[in-house]
Amino acid sequence: MDSPSRSSVIIVGAGVSGISAAKILAENGVEDLVILEASDRIGGRIRKEDFGGVSVELGAGWIAGVGGKESNPVWELANQSDLRTHFSDYSNARYNIYDRSGKIFPSGIAADSYKKAVDSAIQQLRREETIRESIRGCGSDVTRVTEPPSAPKTPIELAIDFILHDFEMAEVEPISTFVDFGEREYLVADERGYEYLLYKMAEDFLCTSEGKILDSRLKLNKVVRELQHSRNGVKVITEDGCIYEANYVVLSVSIGVLQSDLISFRPPLPRWKMEAIETCDVMVYTKIFLKFPHKFWPCGPEKEFFIYAHERRGYYTFWQHMENAFPGSNILVVTLTNGESKRVEAQPDEETLKEAMGVLRVMFGPNIPNATDILVPRWWNNRFQRGSYSNYPIIPNPQLVQNIKAPVGRIFFTGEHTSERFNGYVHGGYLAGIDTGTSLLEEIRKGRKGEIQNHLLEPLLALTGSLTLSTQTEAVSSLHKCDIPTQLYLSGKLGLPEAIL
Ligand SMILES: Cc1cc2nc3c(=O)[nH]c(=O)nc-3n(C[C@H](O)[C@H](O)[C@H](O)COP(=O)(O)OP(=O)(O)OC[C@H]3O[C@@H](n4cnc5c(N)ncnc54)[C@H](O)[C@@H]3O)c2cc1C
Repeated sequence: MDSPSRSSVIIVGAGVSGISAAKILAENGVEDLVILEASDRIGGRIRKEDFGGVSVELGAGWIAGVGGKESNPVWELANQSDLRTHFSDYSNARYNIYDRSGKIFPSGIAADSYKKAVDSAIQQLRREETIRESIRGCGSDVTRVTEPPSAPKTPIELAIDFILHDFEMAEVEPISTFVDFGEREYLVADERGYEYLLYKMAEDFLCTSEGKILDSRLKLNKVVRELQHSRNGVKVITEDGCIYEANYVVLSVSIGVLQSDLISFRPPLPRWKMEAIETCDVMVYTKIFLKFPHKFWPCGPEKEFFIYAHERRGYYTFWQHMENAFPGSNILVVTLTNGESKRVEAQPDEETLKEAMGVLRVMFGPNIPNATDILVPRWWNNRFQRGSYSNYPIIPNPQLVQNIKAPVGRIFFTGEHTSERFNGYVHGGYLAGIDTGTSLLEEIRKGRKGEIQNHLLEPLLALTGSLTLSTQTEAVSSLHKCDIPTQLYLSGKLGLPEAIL
């Protein structure tokens, strides 16, 4: 018998994937769901904060993949909500590279270095493919493996290597986001934030009033610590000692959280699942915001993005001014990744400010004003994130994605990291939620059919005694060949046992 608090589905996490999964379930009749979110807000890695008089995006900032043959669903949501966005043209960033004396590299040198970096990335990729094929015995001759391309050494080579590899490899490998949805990217610059799209989605199935979600099915500040699962259901235990029971769980936490020990599973997840989770890389991507009393950087056309070339790879390399998105805001953003992100997260913000000012003074001279404010997000040290987004190996490995995504019993996995085509992006999370929600609906329909079959079998069991569950199911399917559309089971339009009989 179900306990009174048992719901059909518990969704762990209220980021874009958790909310889109919940929406698809609710819209298809699964309304007794509960969303458990560890933090005090929805949105997850979509998060705005007021800084320097405007609303800046600490997590996802761009709607990436617009203007292509297929329409990006997140772009559609943004248009429906009149979200204010600004087109970002990165193409000229490679010609705004500052050296350590504050001069911009001549465009010819920058273009040559860029071409060399793209060529060597392609060469490296082919090399890895050949090695892999020869190991798998696919006919590739190991003697054909070329010498590895020379590693980037000079500051300009290191800077280009950084933007090519730590941002995107679109010039080297086709990325579904850009191939399918288009190459344009739009920066969200709206006071309501990127997260407004999530509130709009939530409005369709949760009770809301004046921009607030008031529905008791959304439970904030509920940190899930343990999932006990069996063939009969799932018990979810939170840090504050509450226990929630459900028939199924949709787990939407990030790959970084899955790799951490925040949530324990009883029984533990199978080895194939753990191996897949461990194999997926986590990128750390940090946007540091700096507020100034006035502008001192060039703001003309094609000057929005600029690069600093330093002998340490990724050292305050990639810069953006916010004048196009928020005119008069006097804000600069510098993006750090991975090792540099972790280093900066571990130090006081004053130290980071000092380092950033040092770099800016190299580029723009000693007389520029000090920043009056700094904002340093800490995605790596946030125990509900443990990183910024998943990063699969460039060589496609469909089995790896399948294993990350595959359910384990009654636990269904979702999140950007489960999206084979669009992992790492907001639209990846959004579509993954829909995908997982749809698979779970199918499972629920099958499960209900199974329950009905068991119910029908009860009189037979009373006669025969001890049939196992699998043989019960087999017995029923051989007894009842008629197939009732599952849609009708769910909508309750048929009195099932009678209908089947
Ligand atoms: C700095 C940064 C920049 C980015 N830039 C872009 C960009 O420009 N464009 C783009 O498309 N994408 C970008 N992304 C990626 C994008 O933000 C993510 O792909 C997407 O938001 C992930 O959504 P999700 O639902 O999969 O996960 P999340 O948003 O992480 O949602 C998971 C939720 O689970 C909750 N949770 C975690 N542990 C627990 C627990 N134990 N119990 C209960 N709840 C828990 C978390 O608090 C979170 O709310 C960026 C991400 C970052 C961090």
